[in-house]
Amino acid sequence: MNDSDFGSENTRGYWIPNKRIQYPPVFVWPPQLVGFLKWLPKYVFPWGISYALLAVFVWTFLTPSMERLTTFSADWIGLVFLRNIVLTILVVGTWHLWFYVKRAQGTAFKFNRRWPLEDSPAFLFNNQTKDNIFWTFASGVPIWTAWEVVSLWLYSNGYVGGLSFAEDKVLFVGLLLLLPLLHEFHFFCIHRLLHWPPLYRRVHRLHHLNTNPGPWSGLSMHPVEHLVYFSGFLIYWIIPSHPLHALNLGLMAGLSPAQGHTGFDRVVLGDKVSLNLPYYAHYLHHRFFEVNYADGNIPLDKWFGSFHDGSPEADEALKQRRKIRSRSE
Ligand SMILES: [Zn+2]
Ligand SMILES: [Zn+2]
Repeated sequence: MNDSDFGSENTRGYWIPNKRIQYPPVFVWPPQLVGFLKWLPKYVFPWGISYALLAVFVWTFLTPSMERLTTFSADWIGLVFLRNIVLTILVVGTWHLWFYVKRAQGTAFKFNRRWPLEDSPAFLFNNQTKDNIFWTFASGVPIWTAWEVVSLWLYSNGYVGGLSFAEDKVLFVGLLLLLPLLHEFHFFCIHRLLHWPPLYRRVHRLHHLNTNPGPWSGLSMHPVEHLVYFSGFLIYWIIPSHPLHALNLGLMAGLSPAQGHTGFDRVVLGDKVSLNLPYYAHYLHHRFFEVNYADGNIPLDKWFGSFHDGSPEADEALKQRRKIRSRSE
């Protein structure tokens, strides 16, 4: 499969998809029923449903019983931590193995044709991938686990929760389906905050060292950013929910950044089959820093004037914004 059928390489070695980034006709007025119905399957499949099913599996087979969760104890906390480590290795490791170890499709569909840096003082161990793996396991998975452990303890003691599948099936399934939108909105808010200069310099800069990201870059963040990033658990401390919903959030927040940071536009699965990874917007955020704070379904960046759709016109508009700002500084 030839990536020149889907995009073109510019003179600086960046591959640019022909298709511009667009928002689905969902958050528009007046409502567009046909557009909404066309969007719905794409919203649910494959990622929304995959993470919901993974949450069901993890809740059923890989989470200690509610009775055990009522008191904090090293044995079950250790099991939850170990389970999250293994899931991270499996999921993030698989993306990395495919694109960066086996280099299964070479640089086809790679936004930046270069490979991660292996001799750069900007990164720990002078190596981007090793640096990213370090932050993922030294801080990311422990802080994800801490949020999850406290949430499970709160549920098991009846301090939060109150929703069961038997009592309200529609709300139960609806909340699972709503998660990607909740996660996206929460991410936009905290991400915008992290770009406030004092926080950016001290905290978020670490994630942005990855101007040419790979799957392990997704969770490569400063510990303060991990604390804030996983605070999405708070949503379920407030609204009636079930531990399964909190698990779904943890799994999506912990594992899906890998697919959002592959640095590739498509997974090539055969001569004629490929799967689009709809995260070009976030790649552009890593390249240009001040565009596309959200990526996905809600046109937040459009509303707040930071949208970049990947076109030369958007490049030009960004240049003009930067010029005006540097004149006023
Ligand atoms: Zn990122
Ligand atoms: Zn950022």
